[in-house]
Amino acid sequence: MLGSSFFKAGDLVTIKSVCPYCGVGCGITMEVDDNQVIKLSGDKTHPANFGRLCSKGKTSFQAIHVSGRLEKAWLRKKKDEAKVPLEIVPAIQETAQRLKRIIHDHGPDAFAFYVSGQISLEAQYLANKLAKGFIRTRWIDSNSRLCMASAGAGYRLSLGADGPPGSYEDFDSADLFFVMGANMADCHPVLFHRMMARVKGGARLIVIDPRRTATAEKADLFLQINPGTDLALLNGLLNLFLIHETIDRDFIASSTEGWDVMPQFLSDYPVDKVAQITGLEATDILKVAEWIGESHAWVSCWTMGLNQSTHGTFHTNALCNLHLATGAICKPGSGPFSLTGQPNAMGGREMGYMGPGLPGQRSVKEAADRLFVEEKWDLPQGSLRSDSGEGAIALFESMGKGDIKGCWIIGTNPIATIPDRKKVIEALQKAELVICQDAYQETETNTYADILLPGALWAEAEGVMINSERNMTLMQKAVPPRGEAMPDWQIIALVAAEMGFREAFSYHSAEEIFEEIKLFWNPETGYDLRGASYKRLRETPLQWPCPPDDHQHRHPIRYLNDGVSQNLKNATDGGPPPAIAFPTPRGKARFLPRPYTGPAEAPDALYPFLLNTGRLPHQWHTMTKTGKIASLNALNPSPFIEIHPADARDLGIISDDHLEITSRRGRSVLPVLISDRVQRGSCFAPFHWNDVFGTDLAINEVTHDAMDPISMEPELKYCAVALSKVNPGTL
Ligand code: SF4
Repeated sequence: MLGSSFFKAGDLVTIKSVCPYCGVGCGITMEVDDNQVIKLSGDKTHPANFGRLCSKGKTSFQAIHVSGRLEKAWLRKKKDEAKVPLEIVPAIQETAQRLKRIIHDHGPDAFAFYVSGQISLEAQYLANKLAKGFIRTRWIDSNSRLCMASAGAGYRLSLGADGPPGSYEDFDSADLFFVMGANMADCHPVLFHRMMARVKGGARLIVIDPRRTATAEKADLFLQINPGTDLALLNGLLNLFLIHETIDRDFIASSTEGWDVMPQFLSDYPVDKVAQITGLEATDILKVAEWIGESHAWVSCWTMGLNQSTHGTFHTNALCNLHLATGAICKPGSGPFSLTGQPNAMGGREMGYMGPGLPGQRSVKEAADRLFVEEKWDLPQGSLRSDSGEGAIALFESMGKGDIKGCWIIGTNPIATIPDRKKVIEALQKAELVICQDAYQETETNTYADILLPGALWAEAEGVMINSERNMTLMQKAVPPRGEAMPDWQIIALVAAEMGFREAFSYHSAEEIFEEIKLFWNPETGYDLRGASYKRLRETPLQWPCPPDDHQHRHPIRYLNDGVSQNLKNATDGGPPPAIAFPTPRGKARFLPRPYTGPAEAPDALYPFLLNTGRLPHQWHTMTKTGKIASLNALNPSPFIEIHPADARDLGIISDDHLEITSRRGRSVLPVLISDRVQRGSCFAPFHWNDVFGTDLAINEVTHDAMDPISMEPELKYCAVALSKVNPGTL
């Protein structure tokens, strides 16, 4: 099919797929004529969006046909040479040979994979299979480490397994939404609309954020919290639930463990102290506790504001504590719902593409999991290692020290996203071999590649994507790949075959890989795709758990103790099995006391402002796709730094002046937007713009890479900075 015609002129064909941007995972319908997507609309039958799309989704097809696509492979023999084009087959052979040479000379840990939540489930699975099963490196990580690692680790510790216990359906019956550290209006617009429909129907909306975002503007109660003090508030709320006895003691007794230590722990969070830490009014904190106490079903939503923190895992635990205490979990309209950033970050978590993960929510740290996977991959017992890399930050640090000598980066742009990015640049400059697999030629990271491999875009290949709520949508191929581009899974399989692993990587289709993935049913966690198939997915999206012979498309409530996808758990008191059983040894979710600590870096005399980073509604990540779409660029045309009017006055700044933003790590220069959306002493900058769009725009030159010790997610959200006016003559 390479380069050939797919659908001929006059063959107007309708193809269903999924939006390639955020984790809401909206279904789309494309009209294709003469190998071009000529029209795109929301899929009215898709359970994530019922036809609705935001500006990014509506225009997503435009990025397929733009110039700047990577249509062939490029290679250079030495770092000081220019890359030259090479046909794809010899390029794959050369990639395999150079990769083998590094492993032969320096051992498997000298090679690392850095992959993405934007590639298909099948590509994520094969990357992990090649890394852990065959190369046997301990280094594979993904850009999910920068967004969802804390939520995943928090879910595992509190509930026993990763993934949300509930679904989007809960948004239709909740009577209260508690949104913390998430600007849903800008970052998850279609789900925000669903939530607002329910709010218009009478549900209450509480928003907690240090910045008065578009989401906060719609809140019934907005608490503009001091940055990084969320844990104090969450603990303070649980303390109020206890004081006012708005807890569900039956649920606590039947379905949880660890409550006995909580009252003592919570006594350290009286409302006045919490008000003082968080900068909030005690009356507002009391009001939040009162409203949640009055609600019959409530959903909490959170994302980067809580995850990108040195205590991001604790945030998820503290939120789960609130739900467990009120029994608001695994019931319609209730649950802690982590909003996923990327379209298939959930799939990658299930495939184990971060650190110790193995397919089917397994881990190399568990001997039984290793044995299971060795059998599935036809590996001798003991082949899989029990150790793993320590996350994306450690991966690039190890490369900078010269321990990792080569890496394969697939579908992501670490130079534009990893905090304290100078370390990443130095690491890639030092590495002997940098392989970048991408759909576009010009990215910040591709500049440092020794080998560029052309990956097909989402509309040019088949594959499954899994959204925030465990819903699988089949990306169906609408147009042929550009030039010699190939699906990501196919490039990985061909390189693996050239490395000598042909037998384990001889796949002819993504569907064949999906059938293999189905073998990884995990009755410990309820991860179950056995009833899914490409045939069913061509008809409709499917939400896992999907047991065999299943005729339901949706399974909105997880952890049902029916013994179907998850092992049946008997009651510990000899009574009938409980209706809900969490995937922990005793079937109970865990209360975890999580003491408050502040951000890794507080403002001081040298760096007196706290920088908060985030996204805008009409751009996506590092703008590799959206930056090429005129209508989106017209809506969000340029970067900025938002500062409070009083701070602007003190700095002698007016709108459109430029500010130099410096931290202990680096500098960036951005035009000023004066706004009281931010608090005094704080500032906000979107992270989308980087080197491709101009010099000194990279805000990740400034941000902090201190890590959460559990999730190894970096503190991308906040760091201390100094601001100074730039003389226009020096710009
Ligand atoms: Fe795409 Fe997310 Fe917008 Fe839906 S909300 S159209 S998934 S960017």
